[in-house]
Amino acid sequence: MPEWYGPYGGSYVPETLVPALKELELVWKSARRDPEFRSRFQDLARDWGGRPTPLYFAERLTREVGGAEIYLKREDLVHGGAHKLNNALGQGLLALRLGKRRLIAETGAGQHGVATAMIGAKLGLSTEVYMGAADMERQKPNVLRMRLLGATVRPVTQGQQTLKEAINEALRDWIANVQDTHYLLGSAVGPHPFPSLVADFQSVIGRELRRQSRARWGRDPDLVLACVGGGSNAIGTFHPLLRGPARLVGVEARGSGEPSGWGAASLVRGSVGVLHGMRTYLLQDEEGQILPTQSVSAGLDYAGVGPEHAWLKDSGRVEYTSATDREALEAFHRLARTEGILPALEPSHALAVALQRATTLPRDQHVVVTLSGRGDKDLAEVERFGPPR
Ligand SMILES: *Cc1c(COP(=O)(O)O)cnc(C)c1O
Repeated sequence: MPEWYGPYGGSYVPETLVPALKELELVWKSARRDPEFRSRFQDLARDWGGRPTPLYFAERLTREVGGAEIYLKREDLVHGGAHKLNNALGQGLLALRLGKRRLIAETGAGQHGVATAMIGAKLGLSTEVYMGAADMERQKPNVLRMRLLGATVRPVTQGQQTLKEAINEALRDWIANVQDTHYLLGSAVGPHPFPSLVADFQSVIGRELRRQSRARWGRDPDLVLACVGGGSNAIGTFHPLLRGPARLVGVEARGSGEPSGWGAASLVRGSVGVLHGMRTYLLQDEEGQILPTQSVSAGLDYAGVGPEHAWLKDSGRVEYTSATDREALEAFHRLARTEGILPALEPSHALAVALQRATTLPRDQHVVVTLSGRGDKDLAEVERFGPPR
């Protein structure tokens, strides 16, 4: 369980949190070796969460694009509609083991808040979710879902009123209430052990994918793409494939694509600094102030990124690129009309790049996109942009 990924990662937190982070790491290490914990986790993931998720051949889309075969790893079919549950389930069980009775979480698109509210209800833990007021406005259905699941949603009105501020508030709450509260962090970001712990729980995506692709065509995929916000669905997809031959591509949000702004593409466009307890790539000015971010997808709208991605970028093992709002929306409509699937706007960014690459590849190659979530939460946002061109 590395704390450092090359020069990235670490644990830049106030002293009050140090014992809680140490305790979390110890409890997690013992839980991983405990057969009872593992079988509880696996049973819930299967019967309550809907795992394993299918690896789906998008045949009509492939024919239309005319190149390599395109497959989707269907995390949109996980209970709640996104990959977020893989991590929320694992951390919820860890919170019980820690003897904590209260969960707090931050959320951007609302998917992590919903996943936390679901596991909070399932395990009988009281749940409070911090969410930027701007995100509450553009992700209303998820706010309602959280409330119906019994969680309290706390609007955050500081700054840009999106994910960064919600994490700040959740950290503040945790510092004040660390005795009885577990902070159920939603992505592979933050202080150690969160980046490696979240990657561990999300690696079920890549393990299933590797098994499914070997069963289906006898080897690993040739090209695998996932969108990168904080980086949890991408790191969970990539981890089990890192030692293999697959080319791996992480796709960030470039927002409107205007040259003056870079959306939320912290790996493609950022520089190294410290935020939310970790050293990583950030979108910041020369004085280290975090820059405003912009993306049509609330789930990718974050100025930082998980430290392991920073290291994978420097090492060259994973390629990082970006897609604009418009490119993501075109991919969204294309998938809806060829395959009958409404994807979330976040993985639509990865899909956009996958479509560009697939046309250039021979037909006997296999391209896999992690479809991290379903699009129901985004319908109002999609409508705002108007019909496809
Ligand atoms: C939250 C979310 C993301 C972005 O988070 P990562 O930690 O980068 O995976 C991507 N897709 C969906 C559907 C999400 O809900």
